[in-house]
This record gives sequence, C-alpha cells and structure tokens, in this order.
Amino acid sequence: MSSTSKGVALVTGASSGIGAVYADRLAKRGYDVILVARNEERLKKVAGRIEAETGREVRVFPANLNDKTDLAKVESLLRDDKSITMLVNNAGVGSVASILQADVDTVEDMIDLNITALTRLTYAVAPAFVARGSGTIINIASVVGVAAEALNGVYSASKSYVLSFGHSLQKDLADKGVRIQSVLPGATATEFWDVAGYAAQKTASITMSAEDCVDAALAGLDDGELVTIPGLHDGDAWTRWEADRRELSKKFGNAKPAARYSVKSSSAA
Ligand code: NAP
Repeated sequence: MSSTSKGVALVTGASSGIGAVYADRLAKRGYDVILVARNEERLKKVAGRIEAETGREVRVFPANLNDKTDLAKVESLLRDDKSITMLVNNAGVGSVASILQADVDTVEDMIDLNITALTRLTYAVAPAFVARGSGTIINIASVVGVAAEALNGVYSASKSYVLSFGHSLQKDLADKGVRIQSVLPGATATEFWDVAGYAAQKTASITMSAEDCVDAALAGLDDGELVTIPGLHDGDAWTRWEADRRELSKKFGNAKPAARYSVKSSSAA
C-alpha cells in the first residue's frame, strides 16, 4: 500500500465497463486498487493506465469467479489482507432471453456469479471490516431488481437479491462501522449488452455512460445513501417507496389468514 492511501479497494469485474471506471475513480480518490476479472491482458491494460494517471498502486488479480478455486483465492485475499478497506462487488452478467429461450446452464452460471460469488466475497470481508470497525461494501445491483419484467427473469431476480442482501447487510453491519451501498444502474453503455444479447441498447437514448453512472454512484456514497439509483431523477419517489415497504413489512405477521380468503381458521397450537 502506498503512503497517503485510503487503503485498498478490491473491485471485481474491473477489466471493462463500470468496474474499470470504479477502479479509475477510486484511484483518483486516493485508494490503491486490486482489479479482479478473468481477462488478465485487459486487467493489465486498465492497471497500467490508472497507475500512470494517478500514481497509485494497482494490482491485478486474474480470477474466474465462477470457478470455486479462483473464488476461494479472492475470498482468502479479502479475509487476510488488512490493507483492504473497500470491496466493490461489480462483476456480473445478464441476459435478455426469456425462460423459453434461455439455456439453464448459462442461467445457473449467472446465479453463481451475480449471487453466489458476491455473497461469498461479502462473507469473506465482513468479519475483517467489523474487527477493524470500518470498511465499505458496494454491491452493484440494477434497476431491473425492481423493474423485474424488463430483462431475463433470473437476471432481474439476481439483482433483487443484491438489493435485499444490501438491506440486510445494513441491518447487520452498519452499527459496526461498515458502510453499505447498493447501486442500481439503469441501462449503461458497456459490453454487458453484447453478453446479454442486445448490443443495440448501448446506443439507445436512455442509456447512460459508465463514467456518469459511477460518478453519480460515488456521489451517492458520499451522501451516505444506502441505495443509489443514478438514473432516477425523482429521488423522493424512492424514499416514498422505501417508507411504504417498511410500513408494509410491519403488517405481514398475523396468525389468522386475511378475511378475503374466507378461511375458517383453526388454532395454531
Ligand atoms: P461489462 O463491461 O461486461 O463488465 C462485466 C465485468 O465482469 C467484466 O470486467 C468481466 O471481465 C467481469 N466478469 C464477467 N464474468 C466474470 C467471471 N466469471 N469472473 C470474474 N469476472 C467476470 O458490464 P458492466 O455493465 O460494466 O457490468 C458491471 C455490473 O453492472 C454487472 O453486475 C451488471 O449486472 C451491472 N449492471 C449493468 C448495467 C448495464 O446496462 N450495463 C445495468 C445495471 C447493472 P472478464 O470478462 O475479464 O472476466
């Protein structure tokens, strides 16, 4: 770790798109950075550019997060490297295919990356952050975690998971000094869309640049937001939705079914 550093940020999916911009912006904010993704050549290019522009230390850690051995190596790094102060769980893939078109093995790989890897990396780093009383975990979800009907259903559900997981992390870790943020990008101009099967989205009028997306997300982090939605102009709409969700959550626990189901209730005991 270089002197005057804010510590080390480990960014997954840092070889392109949103992750590469996070690496750049975090280095410019004074973090040293560890870049994780599969493509070592691309990682080295990103690292070289950021190092040259910022003078920060940028390490590459090639890993396939769908591979249990590789994933375990990243988990070990997060558990053991005390200089790590931030985890950006960004690596993810999507799809636009419906359940009738999508290949179930590809969908399972998506679950392994978007959910399992993100969860295991968070579990690896959380105890270390709690022990030190500080640390930041940024999880990249998506607006389709709320707008579930937009793309492939498993992709949307994987991002709903990330959003829910973030709420629960906030409950478990915020009072122990760990900062949590869930970021919900809308359509962003990255290679995500080539992999997802709809490259034309990259040039659509509603599509944001990865740079604007990350700059807004980091501004949201600075403001202490738990959930940041770069493309949502009416921020109060989310505040209202969240307040309604929390109010609704208080109303679920009833021993008797709702009257509208006309169930002649028997006692639980
Ligand atoms: P991207 O440019 O395709 O970046 C995806 C990154 O994940 C790449 O660095 C890729 O690198 C890495 N990756 C893919 N599979 C991996 C694996 N098995 N192991 C390790 N790394 C892997 O797309 P992006 O838009 O920046 O995506 C970043 C995140 O934003 C994702 O979680 C995505 O769901 C989310 N998001 C994107 C959009 C959008 O419209 N673009 C909208 C909402 C949310 P390698 O190929 O080198 O491994």
